Amino acid sequence: MAQLDADLAVVGAGPAGAAAALFVARSGRRVILIDQATFPRDKACGEGLMPSGRAPLRALGLEAPLVAAGAPPLHGIQFGLIGQPQAAASFPAYRGEQAGLGVRRLDFDQRLIEAVAHEPRISFHERLRALEVRRSADGPTVITTTGELRARHVVVADGLRSSLRHQLGWTIGPRPPHRYGIVGHWQIDGPLDPWVRITFADGLELYEGPVGDNQRMVGLLCYQSSMRAFAGQLESRYRQVVRETRPALRNGQQVGDIHAVGPFSYRARTVAADGIFLVGDAAGFSDPITGEGIATGLRQAQAVAAALGTRFPERTYRRAHRRLTGDPRRVAALLLRLSRTPALVERGMRNHDVAPQMLTKLLGVGFGYWGFTRITPREWLRLFTGW
Ligand SMILES: Cc1cc2nc3c(=O)[nH]c(=O)nc-3n(C[C@H](O)[C@H](O)[C@H](O)COP(=O)(O)OP(=O)(O)OC[C@H]3O[C@@H](n4cnc5c(N)ncnc54)[C@H](O)[C@@H]3O)c2cc1C
Repeated sequence: MAQLDADLAVVGAGPAGAAAALFVARSGRRVILIDQATFPRDKACGEGLMPSGRAPLRALGLEAPLVAAGAPPLHGIQFGLIGQPQAAASFPAYRGEQAGLGVRRLDFDQRLIEAVAHEPRISFHERLRALEVRRSADGPTVITTTGELRARHVVVADGLRSSLRHQLGWTIGPRPPHRYGIVGHWQIDGPLDPWVRITFADGLELYEGPVGDNQRMVGLLCYQSSMRAFAGQLESRYRQVVRETRPALRNGQQVGDIHAVGPFSYRARTVAADGIFLVGDAAGFSDPITGEGIATGLRQAQAVAAALGTRFPERTYRRAHRRLTGDPRRVAALLLRLSRTPALVERGMRNHDVAPQMLTKLLGVGFGYWGFTRITPREWLRLFTGW
C-alpha cells in the first residue's frame, strides 16, 4: 500500500468539516483539512445554533469562549402572520440545555479554524480545492488542484451543493418544490431580543434572530415562484420586503452584503462507503425551517470520529447518521407543510393558545431529544383538525 499522507483527509472547513477534523485529531489520529476558501469567510445562514448543538461545541471547548465573546442566547421562537401578534414557543429543557445561541458565521467559522490551527495533529490548507475523490482497493485518494492526498479515510464536508458527492454519484436532488433563502443583517439599537421571530407573509417567511453587536440576521425563505420577483433587483427588493413584512425593522439599518442561496432539497444515496464519509450539508439537507443545520453537522462530526474507532466504521456511521437525521427531517417536512398554507398557520396559532406545550415538544423531536411518541394522539388531532 502506498504511503499515507494522514489517517484522515477532510474536504471543507465549515462547521461540520472543521469539527470532524478536531474530534478525530483529538482521538489521536493525523488529519489533513483543506478548504477552497480563504478564512475568515462568510456563509449565507440563519445563524441560530439550536440548543442540541451546544453539547458538541462544549466537547470541543468552544462553547464558553463563544458565550464570553457575546453570542446572544436564543430562548425559542415567536411566530405569526404578517401584521398580527406573535405566539411564543420556548425551546424544550433537556439535560440542563435550553437556550440556543445566535452565532455570526463570519466569527463562528473563524473560531473553529483558530481551534484547528492550535491542534498539532491537524495540517490545515486553505485556498486548496478538491476536484475528485477516487476509490480503490488501497483506500480513497483526494485529487486536489495541486496534487493527490492519500488517507485511510476521507470526510467530505463540502456543503449543500457538494461537488464531491455529485462526482461520487451519490447526489439525489434538488427535489421540487424548490426553496430559496435571501439573507442579510440589520443594525437595530435597543435591548437584546432573544427570540427567533418568524413572520408568515404571502408566499414567503421572514426569519430574524440576534447575532450580537446589536445586529439581527434577517432571512427570507420562499418558493421559486416568489423568488422570481427578486431577479435583477435582489438587494432593493429584499430591503423592501423586509420593511413591509416586519415594521419593527423599519428603523433599522441594513448592513453588509445580502446573499441568496438555494435550492435546498438535496439528499445522498449513501453517507458512507469505501472509506468515504459525508458529513454536514454534504450528507443531505432538507430545509432551514428548523434551523438545525449547524447543530446536526456538529453532531455528525462527533459521530464520524466515534465511528472511525469501530471495526466497521461505515456501517456504524450510517446508523448514527440515520438516528441523528431521521426524525428532525420529518419535523422539518411537517412544519414546511403547515407553513405553506396561511389557514393552517392560523389554525396552528389558535391551537398553540390552547396547548402551548405541543410545539415545544415538536421542537424537541427536531432536536433529537425524544421521539414522536412524546406527542399524544389527542395533540396530533388538535394540530390538524383544531378539536
Ligand atoms: C438560508 C439558510 C438559513 C439557514 N439557517 C440556519 C440556522 O438558523 N441554523 C442552523 O444551524 N443552520 C442553518 N442553515 C444551515 C447551515 O447554514 C448549514 O447546515 C451549515 O453551514 C452546514 O455546514 P457545513 O460545514 O456542512 O457546510 P458549509 O458551512 O457550507 O462549509 C462547506 C465548506 O466547504 C468548502 N468547499 C466546498 N467545496 C470545496 C472543494 N471542492 N474543495 C475544498 N473546499 C470546498 C467551502 O469553501 C466551505 O467552507 C441555514 C442554511 C440556509 C441556506
